[in-house]
Amino acid sequence: MTIKALGYAANHSFTKLKPLAFERAEPAADEVRIDILYCGVCHSDIHQVENDWGNTVYPCMPGHEIVGHVVATGERVTRHAVGDLVGVGCMIDSCRQCEPCRAGDEHHCEGHNSWLATYNGPMKAASQTDDGVNTYGADNTYGGYSNTVVVKEDFVLKVPAAIPAEAAAPILCAGVTTFSPMRHWGVKAGDAVGIVGLGGLGHMAVKLAVALGARVTVFTTDEDKVAPAKALGASRVVIEGDKQAYKDLELSFDFILSTVPEKHKVDPFITLLKRNATFCAVGALTELPGYNNQELIMHRRTLAGSLIGSIKETQEVLDFCAEHGIAPDVEVIPIQEVNAAFTRVKNENVRFRYVIDMASLKQEMAEA
Ligand code: ZN
Ligand code: ZN
Repeated sequence: MTIKALGYAANHSFTKLKPLAFERAEPAADEVRIDILYCGVCHSDIHQVENDWGNTVYPCMPGHEIVGHVVATGERVTRHAVGDLVGVGCMIDSCRQCEPCRAGDEHHCEGHNSWLATYNGPMKAASQTDDGVNTYGADNTYGGYSNTVVVKEDFVLKVPAAIPAEAAAPILCAGVTTFSPMRHWGVKAGDAVGIVGLGGLGHMAVKLAVALGARVTVFTTDEDKVAPAKALGASRVVIEGDKQAYKDLELSFDFILSTVPEKHKVDPFITLLKRNATFCAVGALTELPGYNNQELIMHRRTLAGSLIGSIKETQEVLDFCAEHGIAPDVEVIPIQEVNAAFTRVKNENVRFRYVIDMASLKQEMAEA
């Protein structure tokens, strides 16, 4: 049995997203079916659609910041019930057997296909796995730019009632991607934290760091972001390239998180770290230019990376946001405007998240 579904997908790296009718399987015993209310527009969606990482399978239907209601459950499902408001982030399954999976780090799964991505999954094609086996049985998953999705219950998050449903969506990627490293490297009250970039990830990182009690400095190339950064709670904003400011801030940060989704220099930030402190880049899934290792050696500094976060951390960041009354700044759009939103995210470096209201898609289904 299958469910008729509708979404927006791209057929090539150079074409726009357009409606695609497709089918989802009915939920298996351990799966739930979710009717999607909202889906965030992540910068990764654009990279994936445009094949910037060279691994895109077409048609590509993005969307990994999904919020909706459970409408059906398999017979063995115990964690979720019909009517629950739930979320789905970047992963919908993993091997569950490798050491990272057993340790609750399924986002670093070392199984055949790595974790199963919500869209454009599996991460590795069967031809690239050790034994050529595609353990997940899917050649290309379709994401949340659609009316409905079917997901293993263990990979479904509970959305607290205190967070507006549309604002909860970006927490599932932007929120956990910035929260996980802050937790891992122990950001705490009173710490001096630097956030590089004030886009979808950066603005969420500032809110989370401020809620953790840190003193936050934002680094941006854009003068227009000084006032918004302060409004989010940053105590200082440095315009990148301001040599005097960088000199004044040498050896003063406990942790610096870069959210810049493109190639960028890390050297200027390394010198700002205190002894034993860490610079972590989460935005750029690419090569970064070289750095002076002497700067790491002299103060035992660490250069690090971090990928999204575990399912447990995703639930933690949702609960943390509810508890602290914070949520991403969102602009809700109909799905018919998604191509224009992609262009604006690419060109204008917007400092909030676009979130698609899937009621606009239901309208299209009714008219079809
Ligand atoms: Zn994302
Ligand atoms: Zn695994």
